[in-house]
Amino acid sequence: MMNAAFADLGLDWRYLKLPVPPERFAETTRALPASGYRGANVTIPHKLAAHALADQLGEAARAIGAANTLVFEDGRILAENTDAGGLLDALGEPVPSTALVLGAGGAGRAAVWALREAGARVAVWNRTAERAEALASELGVRQVPRPEAAELVVNATSVGLTGAEGRRGGAEMLGLTGIEAPAVLVDMVYGAEPTPLTLWAAARGARVVDGLEILVRQGARSLELWTGRPAPLDVMRAAAARA
Ligand code: NAP
Repeated sequence: MMNAAFADLGLDWRYLKLPVPPERFAETTRALPASGYRGANVTIPHKLAAHALADQLGEAARAIGAANTLVFEDGRILAENTDAGGLLDALGEPVPSTALVLGAGGAGRAAVWALREAGARVAVWNRTAERAEALASELGVRQVPRPEAAELVVNATSVGLTGAEGRRGGAEMLGLTGIEAPAVLVDMVYGAEPTPLTLWAAARGARVVDGLEILVRQGARSLELWTGRPAPLDVMRAAAARA
């Protein structure tokens, strides 16, 4: 997706995968600018370490406490979190006024903060209630002991990732079958096939935003931070779908 975008922008840049063990993260990352790197995306399990390493934090990274994008500039490392903005870009306007976020991991934190900032009344549910409680009190939203109806439901758990739940499994495992279906469903999870949750929601008339569109949108924001140029969304979308 990124290499297709660089080519479309006429940039002689390469996007490479660098597997790095946690104990080597800081040392490796600090060495990248001298090797010609302009920036990086950072994923599990390094998002907290990326936040800790930065010389300067963007607003979202600061509030969420985790970063997925690094920009190397004039000997400094800037860290930002584009998962939050990417979710809002994929969702579009208007943002529904009530939202239920399922999950209190990294993706859940980004979703809760983004939707709260966008003006939605947000509730968060998590399988392990203590994590939802901590997140809710930190970000000033409501924690719910079981999923409840909302105009927007965001799946920020990893349920659906393996497909092992089967076609009905996703909604059942997440306790959604007993509540009114939302008008809009966002599934952060993505794969080659539509997830069980997106099929469940679409069958009930919901507008569905899938995880691939969120992947493209968070990537587009990263690319814009590195290049200072508008991201070629259609090129990125087509490349992501092909991959
Ligand atoms: P994470 O920090 O490991 O959090 C995982 C979350 O899933 C936790 O809330 C966990 O609940 C919950 N969970 C796991 N198994 C469950 C089950 N059987 N039933 C109910 N809840 C369950 O992971 P993350 O970084 O937040 O990512 C979550 C998902 O979002 C992943 O699938 C990831 O691929 C996706 N994601 C997509 C994008 C994108 O661009 N589309 C971006 C970021 C993440 P407990 O606390 O109870 O364990």
